[in-house]
Amino acid sequence: MRQSKYFFYTLREDPKDAEVISHKLMIRAGLISKVSSGIYNYLPVGTRIIQKIENIIREELNAAGAVEIVMPIVQPAQLWKRSGRWEHYGKELLRIKDRKDNDYVLGPTHEEVITDIAGKFLKSYKQLPQTLYQIHTKFRDEIRPRFGVMRAREFVMKDAYSFDADLQSMEKSYEKMRDAYIRIFDRIGFDYKIVKADSGAIGGSVSEEFMVLSEVGEDKLAYCDSCSYAANIEAAVAGQIRQTDQQEKPIETVETPGCKTIEKVARFLNAPEDRLIKTIMIEADKEPVMVLLAGDDTLNEIKLARKLGAKEITPASEETLSRLLLPAGFMGPVGAPDIKIVADIKIKEMKNAGCGANIQDKHFINANYPRDFKVDQFFDIRNVKSGDPCPKCGGSLNITSGIEVGHIFQLGDKYSKSMDAGFLYTDGKKRHFLMGCYGIGIGRIAAAAIEQSHDKYGIIWQSSIAPFKISLLSLGNDKEVIDFTEELYKKFEQADIETLYDDRDERAGIKLADSDLLGCPITVIVGKRGMKSGFIEAKIRKTGEKKQYKIDDIDDMIEWIRDYR
Ligand code: ATP
Ligand code: MG
Repeated sequence: MRQSKYFFYTLREDPKDAEVISHKLMIRAGLISKVSSGIYNYLPVGTRIIQKIENIIREELNAAGAVEIVMPIVQPAQLWKRSGRWEHYGKELLRIKDRKDNDYVLGPTHEEVITDIAGKFLKSYKQLPQTLYQIHTKFRDEIRPRFGVMRAREFVMKDAYSFDADLQSMEKSYEKMRDAYIRIFDRIGFDYKIVKADSGAIGGSVSEEFMVLSEVGEDKLAYCDSCSYAANIEAAVAGQIRQTDQQEKPIETVETPGCKTIEKVARFLNAPEDRLIKTIMIEADKEPVMVLLAGDDTLNEIKLARKLGAKEITPASEETLSRLLLPAGFMGPVGAPDIKIVADIKIKEMKNAGCGANIQDKHFINANYPRDFKVDQFFDIRNVKSGDPCPKCGGSLNITSGIEVGHIFQLGDKYSKSMDAGFLYTDGKKRHFLMGCYGIGIGRIAAAAIEQSHDKYGIIWQSSIAPFKISLLSLGNDKEVIDFTEELYKKFEQADIETLYDDRDERAGIKLADSDLLGCPITVIVGKRGMKSGFIEAKIRKTGEKKQYKIDDIDDMIEWIRDYR
């Protein structure tokens, strides 16, 4: 590609609204441009990267036996009413009307449409298993679109759906897809972890996420150093806590004037935070519930909502607190009003704990369960912390951040049942499909790849998804240099090496800076001085290593470039 005739423009300045490096670099290197909040254009170079990613995905999914289709972005509300998600999907679902006032949605995901297709075409167990996929636009009206295409409102996703006749076969389809995902992310060159996940709005039982390790990742994950356990913090299970053999002391009331936070109480009582009980009042689908945690722990609302079977967890309102005579900052389980009390499992083992006394400016010390207070249910509801015991092997958990690039689910009959989509089984009776669904964010992959691979000069692409394999630069206006670079360009083209040839009449500094910014794996530089001494130079973007090739040995250079991965 001749740059002088191509649509490729770089920027020197970072965009003002960009918080993370991938967003800055994607804009500056001319890969994307913003249209509106969370809505982007992919410019030609960005489009090439997206196509590379899509091709890897296509190759691996086709090899795994999945079949490509295309479904509509605009979906009739009727389908969503059949699955029940018209009511339950939150505000991310963009609802629209046509000119006849009919309701539609812009598809945030395609379970409804695909289940409808399966119901219409897959009539017998003999047609199963079947896995269908598409690479297509989704729309989610995200509350906080940010980080460029990493959390966009309109984005391209690869979504796949499997249909099976029985559980064993569904698990097999899931494993096949999981293996394909591993090959895809290995080829892209990610440093990633596969973690157990919460199924969220999509539903189902088993689900795992593919997390690219990165500081800017919005997800937190826990993983064990000693075994293979890894889970999203939303789903991570805390290991057993050792019991203490401390003697129970008599409970006492103490004055704690103005000590409304755990930190203040701990300082005032000169007690470590993990010896205090943190009391949180919430409303689970409007029912007030008192929640107890160790003072140094934090509440995992997703786990709590699941354990309580609640759709929505909100902090208790001031009216609720005053109706129950609970003074904020001094609440506790001892002498609590007659409401549901749930506690993290750790509370069961705590001895001689401090807690609020339900009286302004007073706390108890030496509170003990069950001697001094009741708990209706114990659950694992805390966020695991670094150093917590691993639930699998007892080793020590670490916490790190990740960018979710893929998510796979075993859905079971969640959609096929609600939408009554089924087939005739071996016994001639109708059964509902057992489904799996599998998503990969294409744009998010490009952004995550940049987060994991860049330096102060720009992006460093892995060969597998680089927009071009080489940047070819001619430096200066010397005719001999230009003629030779033209020759070289032709040779690269003939050898099928994807080349971005910077043939612009620009200063050497600008050409070199643009080539580093875009970050193709190899830069081939033709300059007057080198040519005089009979050499041209190739620079590896990743390592900075320079290789010199004799002008007469261009074929060696082409061979080396071809083999470079
Ligand atoms: P997140 O928790 O990040 O919102 P999700 O769990 O809602 O993701 P899924 O419904 O599993 O995502 O979608 C499959 C994949 O689509 C995700 O793994 C991610 O790579 C991508 N994706 C989801 N939401 C977005 C978005 N707003 N912008 C870009 N990619 C996205
Ligand atoms: Mg989401």
